[in-house]
Amino acid sequence: MIKPRKSLRRLKRYKPPLEGRAGKFRLDFNENTVGCAPGVIRALRKTLNADWLSRYPEYEESRRILARYFRVSPDEMILTNGTDDALKVICETFIDPGDVLVVPAPTFPVYKYFASVQGAETLQVPCDENFLLPRERVMAALKRKPRWVALANPNNPTGTMVSKKDLRTILKAAPGTLVLVDEAYYDFSGQTVLPWIRKYPNLIVTRTFSKAFGLAALRMGCIFANVKLAEMMRRGKNPFSVNSLALACAVEAIRHEDYVKRYVEEVLANRARLCRALERMGVSYVPSSANFVLTRMGKRSSEIARRLKRKRILVRDWGYESILGGYLRFTVGSSAQTRLLIAELERAQHLMETIVRSGSKNKSRR
Ligand code: PMP
Repeated sequence: MIKPRKSLRRLKRYKPPLEGRAGKFRLDFNENTVGCAPGVIRALRKTLNADWLSRYPEYEESRRILARYFRVSPDEMILTNGTDDALKVICETFIDPGDVLVVPAPTFPVYKYFASVQGAETLQVPCDENFLLPRERVMAALKRKPRWVALANPNNPTGTMVSKKDLRTILKAAPGTLVLVDEAYYDFSGQTVLPWIRKYPNLIVTRTFSKAFGLAALRMGCIFANVKLAEMMRRGKNPFSVNSLALACAVEAIRHEDYVKRYVEEVLANRARLCRALERMGVSYVPSSANFVLTRMGKRSSEIARRLKRKRILVRDWGYESILGGYLRFTVGSSAQTRLLIAELERAQHLMETIVRSGSKNKSRR
């Protein structure tokens, strides 16, 4: 009997529920809910032809344009097939069987998944009752000399942030540990440590075109690190993992930065609007720095998610994670979508568990 590698024998396949979403209100996977800048489509129509499609991708010019946009040198940047591919590249470059990965709990599950594929062990550091990551807990985990610490900043599904001060402490405390700061939601938070790649030789930053830029279908991500780390990652990487279509659209998307900025402003206003509505309904939520809000709906949360689905509104039910029983995550999109979501939530209010108002400002209590 042919068997897969040891680390894969008992690994459960990672299978996000991403089918049948076209034409629905996609408030479940934190994408741009209205689509990319129309200019991207126009430019694509001009570029697309049979000759172009028949050629292998050419990267150099686009890499220079993208590197300039991110204010790094092309040598400090690696283009990947989405962040998911970036995580795989990081794991394949640096992780040996038996190595330790440290992640917050809860967080984006793909760090652990790809680390497990490499045969690594994952140490989960629990967030506190406000879903913040206590620095002391990370520092204690660093004593185990992990190979890699992965921090989504803002974190998914909580929307919470690790401060720059804490990141600096972590980076300095563990010079032998790779610290990944996954900035998939940077456009919404405005906080970045990207310029630090020149200062901290153990820092890796990732960005994606899947969220604010509205190009999730194309799978376009970037890894940033100092030239030496970047060179190591280039060695084992599939040289053609990014296709010409993704590359052309990413280059065009950054030319329409104003469109993205306007979308981000709209999302931030709607996030505040959604949070006010949740407060009116007495529902507890986690203050977010991203384009989504994690809310505690209580025992009937899955019923609420199903009810919204019947109205064609897709939201993410996190109840499958034991620490998130009763929690739903709503992606925030356009004003019309947010109004519709709020109206449907108000109709489902009788199914929600509400918080007793104690005068406390803390809205994220579990
Ligand atoms: N990082 C985080 C924190 C995410 O939430 C997601 C998507 N849910 C990703 C990475 C994946 O991004 P991409 O589409 O670039 O693979």
